[in-house]
Amino acid sequence: PIPVITIDGPTASGKGTVAHRVADRLSFHYLDSGALYRLTALAALEQGIALDDEHALAELARGLPCRFQAQSVLLAGRDVSEAIRAEQVGNAASRIAVLPALRRALVGLQLSFRQAPGLVADGRDMGTVIFPDADLKVFLTASVEARAQRRYKQLIDKGISASMDDLLKDLKERDARDSNRAVAPLKPAEGAYLLDTSEMTADRAVEQVLGWYAE
Ligand code: C5P
Repeated sequence: PIPVITIDGPTASGKGTVAHRVADRLSFHYLDSGALYRLTALAALEQGIALDDEHALAELARGLPCRFQAQSVLLAGRDVSEAIRAEQVGNAASRIAVLPALRRALVGLQLSFRQAPGLVADGRDMGTVIFPDADLKVFLTASVEARAQRRYKQLIDKGISASMDDLLKDLKERDARDSNRAVAPLKPAEGAYLLDTSEMTADRAVEQVLGWYAE
């Protein structure tokens, strides 16, 4: 079977950066599964579909006209790479992610990313639900303070003003929702290696993951 490395963890744990770099180093494909939830959320917001309309959202997700090319994400041919990163879209994504039919609708698309020579998949349930047979499973964590700090810096670097208090509150809310939902709650997969990156650079985290994979 085609090798898979899964990297799961909470919001702003740095898993996107780490997963992306690990994929580059191995020349593997990369799946940002959160982007699929964000794309569905963005399309729903734009089309005025209620965020609790499970049936309509599952339909939307099943026919999601998305494409990943180089560094950008396209929705119906439009570059939405920036738009899906908005806090409002991330929040909407985590609200619709509790709906079982919507999650089921995205399974096939996620599995289709498993292509030679290999895949690095990042998300919340990559190791627990989507690729339980992965060759290496990693659960990346960082303290809520460290994660809020990183998010704060990212926003300031982009010239966006931010409040540390709001960011902390938002992260805690999202953690609670992702961890307490009935389907595919955020938790380490069986056999996952835990990596706390609170005091670690992304580069060191990448080396650690590559080291585990080489074992
Ligand atoms: O990782 P990211 O912040 O982009 O994900 C946005 C939201 O999508 C998360 O807060 C989570 O609720 C949901 N998600 C999920 N399962 C995944 C990836 C993301 O439920 N595999």
